[in-house]
Amino acid sequence: MKDFNPNRYAVITEKNPREIVMLRGHGCSWRRCRFCDYHLDSSTDETANFTLNREQLLKVTGVHGKLEVINSGSFVDLDEQTLNLIGEVSQKKQISQVHFECHWRHRESIKDFRKRFADLGIELKIKTGVETFDSLFRESYLDKGFDVDNPEEIAKYFDEVCLLMGIPGQTVDHMEQDIQIGLAHFERICINIMQENRKPIKPDPKVIAAFAKELYPKYIENCRVDILMENTAFGVGGVVEHAE
Ligand code: SF4
Repeated sequence: MKDFNPNRYAVITEKNPREIVMLRGHGCSWRRCRFCDYHLDSSTDETANFTLNREQLLKVTGVHGKLEVINSGSFVDLDEQTLNLIGEVSQKKQISQVHFECHWRHRESIKDFRKRFADLGIELKIKTGVETFDSLFRESYLDKGFDVDNPEEIAKYFDEVCLLMGIPGQTVDHMEQDIQIGLAHFERICINIMQENRKPIKPDPKVIAAFAKELYPKYIENCRVDILMENTAFGVGGVVEHAE
């Protein structure tokens, strides 16, 4: 994608301190979520991806012993050289825990992927963007691609979830229920406040204001809850300006 040059490395110092890298893969294979343009940060040129990813991974210092890898898709979209380098850098910098993201459709790849890193002495935490546990809303409106209704089933595979808030139709009760379900079934949750892009679903300022007034103060001190009022709040990423 041209004209997209985000910051791709940052250190998160609050709550679960960790370094974070935003790498590039060959792209999310789902690409249907009606709010998402992140998947445009991708390339089929694996050599170029590795060059870009290597540059970011070489910035990792191991300062907090934990690393989060995001790549606008799932870990399966990253090339082998990049995955090997993540392992090498983690071992060299004494990083004992690495977080990756993964779509539900790749859940059967997680077991072997955990083993691959466990053999290097690295524990994985796998995060999925469930966005909401209201499966009708999630699938008929957001088109997320989860063919499952209950959080227990999702928690069999995943350690952490992302929740999307600030969407038209959400109420404070609706959002709080998602937070409570997330905290009951997963180690950590990450709340992303919807940010406008060129995709069909737009954020609702009234829902965002209600979140900021009622829920932000209630959960911001919870060490198991990350809240991103803007999608650059972790210090990486940015709004894609050329989404189709
Ligand atoms: S939200 Fe995730 S799964 Fe959905 S299209 Fe975007 S990158 Fe793919």
